[in-house]
Order: sequence, then C-alpha cells, then structure tokens
Amino acid sequence: MGKISLQKVEKRFGDVSVIPPLDLEVEDGEFVVFVGPSGCGKSTLLRLIAGLEDTTSGKIFIDGADATQLAPAKRGLAMVFQSYALYPHMTVRKNIAFPLKMAGVPQAEIEEKVDYAARVLNLSNYLDRRPGQLSGGQRQRVAIGRAIVRSPSAFLFDEPLSNLDAALRVNMRLEITELHQNLKTTMIYVTHDQVEAMTMADKIVVLQAGVVEQVGSPLELYHRPRNIFVAGFIGSPK
Ligand code: ADP
Ligand code: MG
Repeated sequence: MGKISLQKVEKRFGDVSVIPPLDLEVEDGEFVVFVGPSGCGKSTLLRLIAGLEDTTSGKIFIDGADATQLAPAKRGLAMVFQSYALYPHMTVRKNIAFPLKMAGVPQAEIEEKVDYAARVLNLSNYLDRRPGQLSGGQRQRVAIGRAIVRSPSAFLFDEPLSNLDAALRVNMRLEITELHQNLKTTMIYVTHDQVEAMTMADKIVVLQAGVVEQVGSPLELYHRPRNIFVAGFIGSPK
C-alpha cells in the first residue's frame, strides 16, 4: 500500500499552465521529496495528489486504483500542513483524536490509536496540554500524530518545518526520517530547502516552473545532474 502513479497530470489555473502534463511514480514505502524554488508548483502538485485540487487533465492512481475523481477523504492519504492547523481550545489528545471522532470510530479504538501515535512521537507526557502550552516542534508532532491515527497509505508533507527555527528544523528532520523508518509508509515531502531534500529523500524530484527537471537519488543528482539548473540547485545549499 502507498504506491502513487501520476499519468500526464496537468494543472491550469485559467489560462496559466502551472503543471504541464507530468508523469511520476512513487513506490510503496518510498520517501520522495519534491524540491524546487518558490512558485514552481510543489504545493499544487501535492494538492493534486491529495485531491484538494482537481486535475485539468491526466490521471492519478493510488495502489493501482484510479483516484482522479475521488474526494480527498477517500484517497487514504494524510496531509500534514505547514501551519499546524491545531485546535487551540482542545487538548493534544483531542486534537489527535479529532479525525477519528469525525469518522465515527469507537472510543476504545480511538484511545488505542492516540496512545500509539503519542508513543511513536514522544508526546505521551503532553496529551493533556493545549497547543498553546507546547513548543513549535511539539506542535508539529501533534499535527503529524493527527495524520498517523488515520493509518494512511501515504503521508503528504508541505514544508512542515518552515515555521521552526534552524536548530529545531535539524531535530525534526531526523525525527521525520526516523518516523519513516519505523512506519515504513510512503512519504511525499515538499520543500524548497536543498539540505532537507538531500538528507531525507530516497528519491528527489526537482521541479522548475512545473516541469520535472530530474528524478533520482540524492547521490545520482549530486554526481550526475542532468542540467545546469539541477546542478546549481542541488549544489548550492543555503
Ligand atoms: P510552490 O509551492 O512551489 O511555492 P505553488 O504550487 O504554490 O508553488 O504555486 C505554483 C504557481 O501556481 C504559482 O505561480 C502560483 O501563483 C500559482 N497558483 C497556485 N494556486 C493558485 C490558484 N488557486 N489560482 C491561481 N494561481 C495559483
Ligand atoms: Mg508551496
């Protein structure tokens, strides 16, 4: 579970082509990073996969099934947003449990899943706090917890660390990589940060103006960049 396939997926906003027809394969269990400068279409591509935007043309397959017309909630994916989008008046426990409550999951099962997510994310001691009483990194983990409890076939991250300070970013990078190693679930991770891409990815997708410039492992991109854009982008970390 967690194989995602894009076939000639295109997105236009009015007359503007943001994503020209594009093919992409994400294998089950892979950690794939979409990287590219601001405005190149990373978020749009992720939102197309999540179903938050409709494709102009082309098809999206999830685990072999055509998901192009499926509502976001039916795709079995979990999106983790840049802004934490936590409910400030709810405890951590309630924030994490929220998607399960909405789905009508029995209380005993909710508690089991929340406890599991809290253990995996080192949040067990913070379950009764509210988001305002947490650090930025802890808040980000709660947002990830809310994704974990839904047992998605893939996690979609849109620049999840961009609100954090530099030291915390390094920490969270390691935590998300470790989470991937533990869960072995497909992750698609959007960033404009070359260092995040190089250190976290199994496979990097380099985008420029909606076009896939190159797909490859960090080593392949580093040693055999296909063009000057990839070479410059990968070779010049901030
Ligand atoms: P990134 O995430 O790489 O910074 P985005 O996917 O957010 O880039 O945006 C890609 C391009 O699509 C940008 O030029 C942006 O202005 C445009 N765009 C994104 N969403 C919309 C929208 N809802 N309507 C019109 N243009 C949009
Ligand atoms: Mg974006």
